[in-house]
Amino acid sequence: MFWEYRNDTGRIERFLLRKDFPIFVIELNINTMHELSIAIHIADIIENEAIQAQAEKVTKVELEIGSMSGVEPAALELAVPEAFRGTMMEKAELVYHYIPASAVCQSCCHEFDPTWHFSICPHCNSSDTYFLRGKELNIKSFDIIKS
Ligand SMILES: [Zn+2]
Repeated sequence: MFWEYRNDTGRIERFLLRKDFPIFVIELNINTMHELSIAIHIADIIENEAIQAQAEKVTKVELEIGSMSGVEPAALELAVPEAFRGTMMEKAELVYHYIPASAVCQSCCHEFDPTWHFSICPHCNSSDTYFLRGKELNIKSFDIIKS
């Protein structure tokens, strides 16, 4: 079952209504960090780029998702095909690269797996740490067929 909504730009946003995935019925703000808004945003970016490249269709999309990106993998993998439905990405092969988080301590240079967004160095207990990776949400690449 779907619920459709025409946004300010005239684009129809389509929402899959499920008991276990109810958040997007209420919240339509594209900046909100939930997976369907993110997926629609990804679809817009790829579609714009593909149109500029005179693509007829997009055959493959690769996404990079950090474990600390705030995106739930299962929800994203449900949302992306929904967001791509009716676009030139509809039949694209979807590849998700999940990237484990890694942080480094500025005090002792120890590299470690962070357990939370604000990480303490397990070696020297310093809070002066930063993420090397794990917060990314990238469109790694997409393949097109030109018209
Ligand atoms: Zn340290």
